[in-house]
Amino acid sequence: MFLIALEIDENLAINKFYSQGSSIDHLKQNESILKMIPKNQVGLFLDFLARLKNNRPSITQDLQIILEVSGSPQLFKIVGMATNKGYTLFIVDHPNLEQIAAILKEWQYDHYQKIVDLLKEDNQSESQYLSKYDEMTKINNELINIRRSLSKKNQELIKLNEEKNRILGVVSHDFKGLVGGIFSLTGFFLKEEHFNAIETKEIYSVIYASAQQMLDMIYNLLDYSQFETGSIFLNKKWINLNQLIHDNVKVNHFFTRDKNITIKTELKTEITDIFLDPVRINQVLNNLLQNSIKYSEANTIITIILEKHQNEVMLSVLDQGIGISQSEIDNIFKPFTKTSNTSKSNEKSYGLGLSIVKNIIELHEGRIEVTSQRGQGSRFDIYLPKVKKQK
Ligand code: ADP
Repeated sequence: MFLIALEIDENLAINKFYSQGSSIDHLKQNESILKMIPKNQVGLFLDFLARLKNNRPSITQDLQIILEVSGSPQLFKIVGMATNKGYTLFIVDHPNLEQIAAILKEWQYDHYQKIVDLLKEDNQSESQYLSKYDEMTKINNELINIRRSLSKKNQELIKLNEEKNRILGVVSHDFKGLVGGIFSLTGFFLKEEHFNAIETKEIYSVIYASAQQMLDMIYNLLDYSQFETGSIFLNKKWINLNQLIHDNVKVNHFFTRDKNITIKTELKTEITDIFLDPVRINQVLNNLLQNSIKYSEANTIITIILEKHQNEVMLSVLDQGIGISQSEIDNIFKPFTKTSNTSKSNEKSYGLGLSIVKNIIELHEGRIEVTSQRGQGSRFDIYLPKVKKQK
């Protein structure tokens, strides 16, 4: 805010002056105002002055005055004029209306009210303009934000698309291997090549195993897509967790025979009423146990631990297998990520199992943690919340 009021007499010499906001160093009494009007505006200025004296004060947007402020000349807009007994008052720049009114009152100007009203109108249109400007700035900022989030979303879409292509690549690569095997083997039969009974049985068992792996993969893919679309629902029941573990070990025991692996259970507590989806928890245990079997040497031990903590239950699977390197451990729960590990007996790996396990556990509002080191075995700990039975 900058306010200057100048009063000039009939000879256009300065009689009084007032400034607020900055000092006007060169202003002197008796100096001609014409010195301060830009040359190309002198005509306009005199014309305006004549109209003012005829009692027709008005505001002009064009009139300017040159004043030296802190040693350098600056142009100011004349926003108000008033006359009184041979003296004319100029209000310069964008003054505070109340202060102008106070000066006009103090200097006892005739057209005091008229000039204040005119200035009010001027200020109003200015404030309207300012509020429109504010609105436009706001809209502009919103647009900038929308553009930013669009470009972020775009980046996300590009990433998702790359991820989708990667998944398609992994799936088709695995399928290609399996279908390719079945295709060649069935081709032998069609070409009427003769095999003895043992060879025929071997070929059938390879075809059977390939079809079985493809089926597993399809089930996993279906599960994965259900998790991705959020269309999977749990069918929770009050179950006996110890019983579930015992039953599961009995089944998985069959897969340990080739490697002579022992599954040991350390069920330190009896959990006979926990609210879980038994089919899904069984799936979790299957995945963890089968990974442990897959990535373990022969004659080793896999241990299942069950413990009751304050608000949760801990179910752990520990093995003495090849372990996972620290650089890869963060990625094992991401779908379709395989580590550099190859299983001890070259079982197929899809990189989907642990991502499904994590989804199931999180759907139960639990969490899964892994600790492992290359060559030192792996430990997977699942924490499931205890839910109180409503009585
Ligand atoms: P898959 O076993 O089908 O490849 P998973 O999602 O179950 O997929 O596991 C992801 C990766 O984590 C595996 O490829 C393997 O490298 C590693 N992994 C999982 N469990 C173990 C384990 N018990 N010991 C060593 N590595 C493991």
